[in-house]
Amino acid sequence: MATPRIVILGAGFAGLELSTLLSEALGDRVQVTLIDQSDAFVFGFSKLDVMFGRTTLDAVRLPYRHFAKPGVRLLRESVRAIDPHSRRVTTDAGTHDCDHLVVALGADYDIAATPGLADANEFYTVDGANRLRDVLPGFSKGHAVVGVCGAPYKCPPAPSECVLMLHTHLTELGIRTESTITLTSPLPSPVPPAPLASEAILTAFAERDIRFIPGVRIAALDGAAGVVSLDSGDELPYDLFLGVPKHHAPQVVLDSGMAENGYIPVDSYTLASRYPDVYAVGDVATVGVPKAGVFSEGAATVVARSIIARLTGGEGPAPYDGVGFCYLEFGDDLVGRVRVDFLSGPKPTGTLDGPSAAYAAEKAEWGASRRARWFGL
Ligand SMILES: Cc1cc2nc3c(=O)[nH]c(=O)nc-3n(C[C@H](O)[C@H](O)[C@H](O)COP(=O)(O)OP(=O)(O)OC[C@H]3O[C@@H](n4cnc5c(N)ncnc54)[C@H](O)[C@@H]3O)c2cc1C
Repeated sequence: MATPRIVILGAGFAGLELSTLLSEALGDRVQVTLIDQSDAFVFGFSKLDVMFGRTTLDAVRLPYRHFAKPGVRLLRESVRAIDPHSRRVTTDAGTHDCDHLVVALGADYDIAATPGLADANEFYTVDGANRLRDVLPGFSKGHAVVGVCGAPYKCPPAPSECVLMLHTHLTELGIRTESTITLTSPLPSPVPPAPLASEAILTAFAERDIRFIPGVRIAALDGAAGVVSLDSGDELPYDLFLGVPKHHAPQVVLDSGMAENGYIPVDSYTLASRYPDVYAVGDVATVGVPKAGVFSEGAATVVARSIIARLTGGEGPAPYDGVGFCYLEFGDDLVGRVRVDFLSGPKPTGTLDGPSAAYAAEKAEWGASRRARWFGL
């Protein structure tokens, strides 16, 4: 019998965990091809550490050359076309046909969709966060605005973490009283499915004199005038703007015809797309859970178990439960742990533990365990 071929597009949280699980279960009995255009993986949360100068980009880049798993070849290629009907993928280096295709290309940013954003700062790309390392020391007083340009966006608590860390940063420099900090969000609260976490964050904002404006999007920025326009029609003055760009699936996914409303629709419990033997997992899909690494990884586990069951004749996995832990920076090196459950009950629920130094250590351990598991570092 021919060796089953599995092609996984994207070596982020989803692609790395999925190919690791397939390798552990099946080794050389399958041919897994993992494709990514980048030469290194960077955890989303590392971007906050880089921008606030808590670490360097070099220290948090995890080069793909360290990812070595039996049965898996990782190719550095750029995906140019996906045909979900024939399960054929075209890259800048050639074509790949397969028996099982998993699209795990994440969400991309549309910076041009918000007029003026290209001339301001954003902290969601690796380059944007790295640039801010040099920009932030130049801010000594005035209005700092952290603004979200659209929803859904990755890691819903990240903008709240950003303002709390900015408060700590300015306080440590002794210039916090010279500035105001405002966060605008399209969401009604910092973490909508976890009211206790939202309450704790809003209390932390009030204690630190951080203004929170919910339910609005950034419509445009006028850098010369130093004015942010909100979609409510209101305007805010700014001297420093830290933005979260609008998101959508990568252009190659939109061009493939697989997407609806910007992302690939899937069965939330199996991650199966509407094409036979084609899955979409992680931020690239509409799953009914937030766009966050912890959920991409959890959903990838279900896809791995499905494929393993198909190939070995075993029993299929339990449905994806949409449960995940997110670690939330409160500033001052304190971290809270939010547990959210999106799919197992009639509506999402969430709880908060901490914030504390113990959860800061647990978050560090969470990152270190993935670094070791995927990269052997
Ligand atoms: C500031 C910030 C903080 C965050 N904090 C957290 C956190 O604390 N916890 C958490 O769980 N999540 C966090 N996230 C979110 C997390 O980073 C993402 O949700 C997660 O990376 C999604 O995983 P994924 O595998 O779906 O996609 P990704 O990790 O984005 O992987 C997609 C991969 O596809 C590749 N790719 C894209 N297009 C192509 C192409 N055409 N050809 C080839 N390769 C391509 C990319 O290079 C990328 O490696 C944060 C994000 C940000 C920005």
